Amino acid sequence: MRDATGDRHSLDDTVPVLESIAQLPDEDPNPVLRLSRDGTLLYANRASWVLLSHWQTQVGSRVPPSWVLTAQRALDQGEVLEEEVRIAFKTILLVVVPIPTRGYINLYGLDVTRRRQVEDKLRLIAQVFENVTEGIMILDGDRRIVEVNRAFCAITGRTREEVLGEQATPLTPGTTERETPDIWGSAARQGSWQGEVWDRRGNGDLYPQWLSVTALTSPAGEPTGFICLFSDITAKKDAERRLYRMAHYDSLTGLGNRRRFHDLLDHALKNARRTGEILALLFIDLDTFKMVNDNLGHGAGDSLLRIVAGRLEGSVRESDTVARMGGDEFTVILPHLQTAENAEQIARKLLAAVTEPAAIEGKEIFITASIGIALYPRDGADTSTLLRSADAAMYHAKQRGRNGVRFFSRDMNRWAARRLALQTRIRRALESREFIAYYQPVVDVVDGRITGLEALVRWRRGDGKVLGPDLFIPVAEQSGQINEIGETVLRLVCAQGVEWNRRGLLPGRLDVNVSSRQLWRSDFTDLVESVLDDTGFPANRLELELTESMLIVDSSETLEKLERLRSLGVSLAIDDFGSKYSSFTYLRRLPVERLKVDRSFIQDMGNGGREITGAIIAVARSLGLAAVAEGVENAEQMAALAGMGCPEAQGYFLSRPVPSDAAESLLENGFIVGRDVAPARTVFMEDDGDRA
Ligand code: C2E
Ligand code: CA
Ligand code: CA
Repeated sequence: MRDATGDRHSLDDTVPVLESIAQLPDEDPNPVLRLSRDGTLLYANRASWVLLSHWQTQVGSRVPPSWVLTAQRALDQGEVLEEEVRIAFKTILLVVVPIPTRGYINLYGLDVTRRRQVEDKLRLIAQVFENVTEGIMILDGDRRIVEVNRAFCAITGRTREEVLGEQATPLTPGTTERETPDIWGSAARQGSWQGEVWDRRGNGDLYPQWLSVTALTSPAGEPTGFICLFSDITAKKDAERRLYRMAHYDSLTGLGNRRRFHDLLDHALKNARRTGEILALLFIDLDTFKMVNDNLGHGAGDSLLRIVAGRLEGSVRESDTVARMGGDEFTVILPHLQTAENAEQIARKLLAAVTEPAAIEGKEIFITASIGIALYPRDGADTSTLLRSADAAMYHAKQRGRNGVRFFSRDMNRWAARRLALQTRIRRALESREFIAYYQPVVDVVDGRITGLEALVRWRRGDGKVLGPDLFIPVAEQSGQINEIGETVLRLVCAQGVEWNRRGLLPGRLDVNVSSRQLWRSDFTDLVESVLDDTGFPANRLELELTESMLIVDSSETLEKLERLRSLGVSLAIDDFGSKYSSFTYLRRLPVERLKVDRSFIQDMGNGGREITGAIIAVARSLGLAAVAEGVENAEQMAALAGMGCPEAQGYFLSRPVPSDAAESLLENGFIVGRDVAPARTVFMEDDGDRA
């Protein structure tokens, strides 16, 4: 025998060599054991202690029954078997080698803990790979599909066999980006890429996916492939779209709403700035929509809005946008115009479309609209200026008698600024008590006796000038200041009435005008009651004048208020009767005493007004209502009224509205004999023509 050096060993050397060989099993770090057929442990090396303590046995004793069976099976079959034993976190593989000739088996153990851990981990990864809801696609360096998971198949509707080896399709990026991003290039450069893309399913359908691509590299940094993880975001996008619709579209008409309008106008303005084209913004407001709504109900109002919306949209080009700003207000953006005249042509076309009769709930409804036009860049360079200009132009179209079209002009801005300034001055005037009442007598047509006084507000400025209500009431109505003005007048009149009453001068009644904005307030009746309480004015001497239009508007709530006023003892009159909707039918339901026949009929007495005035007075009488003819300016009119049996009259013929001290003189007299005045349109005596 030669050792590594080639020296021959002497026989004397043999004994230590055998001894050292005998130690070999104990030096082995792996367990080595021997079992007899009946499971008696014949031998165990040192490294077997783990097994022995696990089996709770020792050399000479039996191993657990399952191992007895293993020993027998191995011996009977004469085959090498493998068994695994898990002890705590360790895994030991035992190779069972039967030695049938000797009747025992040898067990050679191997610690496979690490290998099993790796395998477990791989199994876990494989499970995750198969069970995640995201689709996974693994690509090689040439972007050929190497592996896909179950979710991939579920999402794309393609089988693994179909796609393996296929080149991954170039994906179309999602909605936001305009250019195709270099997905693979940027993933390779930056390590990963994420974004929204469109992919095709097996059946050809496009669907949106959220994709993240991770580049794989070799340890040397060479690109070796990609892992693509994606999810189908169809549902998410649908939800997003629904939300967007809800936030940007009007649910009633399906048109874009105010928010969408702003977005689109912004966009259109940017384009116009670039191309230098003219852009027109039309602001459309229906003229008598509120009447439809109030008289025919909200259902009919909604139908009308839908019809109008459809007609507007049907009358413009694809590139034009119609939006509903709310209520009965619409806007149209005309982004590509050659000339300003084009805008007017289109506006007239829209007006014609809107005014076509509409069939709603079996009725034919006619509605008109007022349209304001603002042009970019002339009338505004940004969204809000342009919108303000179009709105102002619409307002002026309305003022000019409705159902018309108007272009914006610079004057309108000045006019709007003046209105604002006037509001400020009205506020100061309220503070410094510049609002006072003038009084105009109402006279018995037969004998000229003063039956009442109508209070008419005046603004007596610090400089002594006196302004009539037409100069400030429209603005005060709009700003809401009419409420304070109205309360001021009511208090003044009641206080004055108490004073006249004390001196035995109080006529049958004092009339106070009430604006619709006052009546619509829920606390209006409380206000009247407290003014009566505060001043001590007898309620049955107060008459409130309401206009028809505010009564036609909302029924039950208004009716309740009127009933309450009646129950206080206050009487009610309808002012300017006949000037607006003139409906006798609803009059029957209202707790009113008196009709004031509109001035226009009296003034028209010469040509046709006579018949109408006569008819109104006759019907009033048949309904048990008293009548007052307003605006009587001459003896002829007075005589005609007497002939018709009109009980009361009021007008310049009898007396202009006068300050309280002059009214007092009239009351002291008690009777008025009329005196002809110049026909209407003369400047009011107290109005020096200085428009506020
Ligand atoms: P109104 O209630 O119809 O008042 C009658 C208006 O006709 C008054 O104008 C009066 O001066 C005028 N008038 C009277 N007789 C004649 C006449 O023979 N010929 C002509 N051409 N006009 C005549 P005024 O004072 O300028 O008031 C205008 C309107 O302002 C009133 O119309 C009323 O609607 C409103 N108003 C007046 N005072 C108040 C008030 O205190 N509160 C509210 N809310 N409105 C008021
Ligand atoms: Ca009046
Ligand atoms: Ca009137």
